[in-house]
Amino acid sequence: MVGRITNIQRFSVHDGPGIRTVVFLKGCTLRCRWCCNPEAMLQESVLMFQPELCIRCGACVSACAMGASGTLEQITLDRTRCTGCGACEEVCYAGAKYKKDIYISAEALWKEIEKDKIFYKRTKGGVTFSGGEALLQADFLTELLRLCKEGGVQTAVETCGNVPWESFEQILPWMDLFLFDIKHTDSAKHREYTGAGCEKIMENCRRLCSRGKSVIVRVPVIPEFNFHRVELESIIRFAKEVGAREVDFLPYHRYAANKYRYLDMEYWNPGVQRLDKSLVEECLVGIDTKLEIRIDG
Ligand code: SF4
Ligand code: SF4
Repeated sequence: MVGRITNIQRFSVHDGPGIRTVVFLKGCTLRCRWCCNPEAMLQESVLMFQPELCIRCGACVSACAMGASGTLEQITLDRTRCTGCGACEEVCYAGAKYKKDIYISAEALWKEIEKDKIFYKRTKGGVTFSGGEALLQADFLTELLRLCKEGGVQTAVETCGNVPWESFEQILPWMDLFLFDIKHTDSAKHREYTGAGCEKIMENCRRLCSRGKSVIVRVPVIPEFNFHRVELESIIRFAKEVGAREVDFLPYHRYAANKYRYLDMEYWNPGVQRLDKSLVEECLVGIDTKLEIRIDG
C-alpha cells in the first residue's frame, strides 16, 4: 500500500517519550490559522520556491514547458501556469524549487523507521505519525502501525481529532499512545480559527480515553485564540474529566512563517508575536490541575 508523506524527521524529542522518528502524512481536515506545517495541511501537491537558495543557473527556465519559471533575468514561480509536473525540481541542484510530496509504500517506510530502532530501545522512544492529519490515510496508517508493532517499535499518533470515529477504531489494536490536540472548548471559536467546530474532536478524545488508551492532550497556546486563563483551565478540566494522562501546552512560535512565503500563502497575522514559555507558566499559576502538566518550548 502506498501513502503520501511530506517528511521523515529523525531524533525528535518533542513528539512523545524518548527519541522518536516523526513521519508527517499529507492532508488535513482543519485549517488552523497558525498551522506550522502548511505543506502537510494541503492535499494537493505544491511546489515550494525558496529564492534565497537560488543561484540563478536558469535550469528551471529551460526545463519548464509552461513558462512558469520566469526568465534568466528574473527567476520566479508563476503558480497560475505551474502544473506541478516537477521538471524544475529535477534540475534544481541548489534545492531552491522542491515539492514536499513523497509517495512511499508502507514497507519502504517501515524500513526507514526500523533504522533507528537502537535509539528507541535506549530511550524508550518510538515512532510518531503526525501531519497534516495522519488518520486521513487510515488504511495506509493501519498497515504502518501493524508493521511497527510487529517489529517491536512503540507507536504514537498525533491527531487533530477531526476524523470519523471509525478511523480511530481501525488503528486501536496497534496503538500505544495518542497525542491528541484540543485547541479550544468553545465550538464557535474553534470553528472561527480552524474551520471546524470541536464537538466531534472532544467526543473522539472522550471515546479514546474510555477505551483505556493512553492519551496526552496537546494544546497549541495561541495569542488572540486560546491564551486566556479561563480557556486553558477549561481544557485542563476536560482532559481530567475524560481521563487523559497529561496535558502539554505548546506556546505559539513563528518558525513556519518562511514556509508560507515559499508557498506564496498568506501567514495569518504578522502582528502576533511568539509566546514566551514563562507567560504560559504565569497564566497557569494557581490552577488546581491534579494532572501532569508540561509546557514545551
Ligand atoms: S513544476 Fe513543472 S510547470 Fe511548475 S514551474 Fe516546475 S517545471 Fe514548470
Ligand atoms: S534551477 Fe533552481 S537554482 Fe537554478 S535558477 Fe531555477 S530555482 Fe534557481
